[in-house]
Amino acid sequence: MKPNYNKNNERTNMSKTRRKSYKKTKLQKRLAFIISLALIILISGLGIYIYQRNNNSDIPPENVYASADTENTENPEAESLDTPNHGSDKVAYLTFDDGPSSVVTPQILDILKSYKIKATFFVLGLEAERNPELLKRIYNEGHKIANHSYSHNYKHIYSSVEALLNEINQTNAIIDEALGFYYGNTVFRFPGGSFEKADCFKQSVKEMGFKYVDWNCLGSDAVSGTKTADEILSSTIDTSINKNPVTILLHDTNAKQTTADALPAIIEYFINEGYEFKTIDNN
Ligand SMILES: [Zn+2]
Repeated sequence: MKPNYNKNNERTNMSKTRRKSYKKTKLQKRLAFIISLALIILISGLGIYIYQRNNNSDIPPENVYASADTENTENPEAESLDTPNHGSDKVAYLTFDDGPSSVVTPQILDILKSYKIKATFFVLGLEAERNPELLKRIYNEGHKIANHSYSHNYKHIYSSVEALLNEINQTNAIIDEALGFYYGNTVFRFPGGSFEKADCFKQSVKEMGFKYVDWNCLGSDAVSGTKTADEILSSTIDTSINKNPVTILLHDTNAKQTTADALPAIIEYFINEGYEFKTIDNN
């Protein structure tokens, strides 16, 4: 058996070398695999990034606007100011309160679309719950959705700071739910306006990161008894004289058909006066 020893030994050595080289190849293969995997991940990541970038630039301006809007929600700064001043530029903010409603809101959206104008909708949680598809439409068409409480019931909303904040939170949650993502609205309008509200209400709204917005021009379409379209137009014009920015209060409940009827003339008036329409954004 001895003579074979060396041979065996040689064989063992050979097989050791082979095994070593086999191990080496295996290691190299594994390394190559890991590197290719990493490369694939890197390339596909880059691909997705480029795709998303290109895709973003492809969306129509209204959607770019809307997504920019949601981006601004990360660090909202509370402001009690009505709307920012735009210096020499004339700016008009069309605002629609108390909707969305199934009959009038779609008409208003159609009119805004035909003029390529963006507006701000101060929705009620109660109505938003009934018309989630309209919230989606408002958002998709590039308008701003803002908060106008859940119930619009003064007695309840202003019974305590807690009741007010609950209604604001509830309505924001309904907006998010309808849109299917975190919209992060931080714009609120007090039902009835902030004008004579106790400081504790205004303060608490600011402390929760919201700004509240009133108006300085109105179609007077909220008063009891239906105003004609002409009356709404006249009221809007009369209360807007020499104002910049002008924040126009209108309503889009189903009872406000004449508001929708008056809207084209209102828009044309402000266009002729050199105003640019903008939305009231989060800070
Ligand atoms: Zn209202």
